[in-house]
Amino acid sequence: MSVTAVVGANWGDEGKGKLTDFLAAHSDIVIRYQGGNNAGHTIINEYGKFALHLLPSGVFYPHVTNVLGPGVALNIGGFLHEREELVSRGVPEPKLLVSARAEVVMPYHKLLDAYEEERLGKRSFGSTKAGIAPFYADKYLKIGVQVADLYDEQRLRDRLEAALAPKNVLMEHFYHRPRITPDELLPDLKRDAERIEPFVCDTTFYLHDALNDGKSILLEGQLGALRDPDHGIYPYPTSSSTLAGFGAVGAGVPPHAIQRIVAVVKAYSSCVGAGPFVTEIEGPEGDELRERGGDMGEYGATTGRPRRMGWFDAVATRYGCMVQGATEVALTLLDVLGYLDEIPICVAYEIDGERTENFPVPAKLDRATPVWEHLPGWKCDITALRSFDDLPDEAKNYVLRVEELIRVPVKWVSVGPRREAMIER
Ligand code: GDP
Repeated sequence: MSVTAVVGANWGDEGKGKLTDFLAAHSDIVIRYQGGNNAGHTIINEYGKFALHLLPSGVFYPHVTNVLGPGVALNIGGFLHEREELVSRGVPEPKLLVSARAEVVMPYHKLLDAYEEERLGKRSFGSTKAGIAPFYADKYLKIGVQVADLYDEQRLRDRLEAALAPKNVLMEHFYHRPRITPDELLPDLKRDAERIEPFVCDTTFYLHDALNDGKSILLEGQLGALRDPDHGIYPYPTSSSTLAGFGAVGAGVPPHAIQRIVAVVKAYSSCVGAGPFVTEIEGPEGDELRERGGDMGEYGATTGRPRRMGWFDAVATRYGCMVQGATEVALTLLDVLGYLDEIPICVAYEIDGERTENFPVPAKLDRATPVWEHLPGWKCDITALRSFDDLPDEAKNYVLRVEELIRVPVKWVSVGPRREAMIER
């Protein structure tokens, strides 16, 4: 039995979708274990270009079973829409399973997310307004609704009443918006329940059986280590753990089964939303990297928002790999840096006049300034190269210096957005 986790070592958007799509060729099962349809994974393969938000990135292979585990935030409409879009664009009907224990994102979660961001105004967190924070708050307040609850009308009504009683006080007296009743929600939920029923099962038993049968499993993380609520940059994390360690919980596999942890590391930095970002590049230099980054510029796959851009941050990335427990690294987007004469990388921070190589607690991060090192650029297009030895010396040196700084072997180097643009070392 073997479980491999593909997780982000940075702020998200590292190219996890591309790597998962690439590794899924040799996997039986791909699982999303946290988060919802609030972020996106861009995948470019023989079927075209796709932005997946909730579906696991194994959906392009007919041999792969794709699982949404108990830890995900299930937006049923989003799930069905994504699946239909794939099929309408010629992808063979994917094998999909949804955990009966997964909880459902409700219309009121999205409303509360939007009302709160509006109330915060300039102090907003930059939420994608997909309802994810109110969803996880309800889960841990124990007033969420599990998929299995949808098939028991009285139980569902009771769950909705429990959730809506405190919310309606907020709706009416804090946000000055209309109250919501279970009766308004029940018809749509009933229809949603019927539409997803073919996919619903107890995925935990399914996965344990699969492990006993020697199947190979990929866990696909959403966002990155620095967005983890415990280990990331609080109060700017996402609302569920982005770490491989949580993969065991959110998917429902034994922790000891996770033997490989592939941390996806971006060759430069990008971040969406508010919060400290030590290596941020402001002005035209940042604009140029944004336009050249990703497959068509660094803009959110879900929201289209311009991403904040920065140079490679070894302090944050080493920490990200450490808290992920990375056994190997996939360094992505190296090709993007091919226009630069010289490439800055941040090797340490200075905080209150003191140099540190350890990523600080959030309370100190605002005062951190980068200590730079400059590496020579390679000034050419490396997208077509498939062997590490063929890379220009400057590109090899960049990879080797990153590897030395983050202290995890770089096993993969991604040199373009397409599936095949990958170098294995
Ligand atoms: P994810 O959420 O970690 O899956 O990352 P995203 O899909 O949000 O962002 C990664 C972006 O970079 C997407 O536009 C990918 O198509 C693109 N991409 C991934 N790997 C590479 C690469 O090696 N080179 C280039 N140029 N683009 C890449």
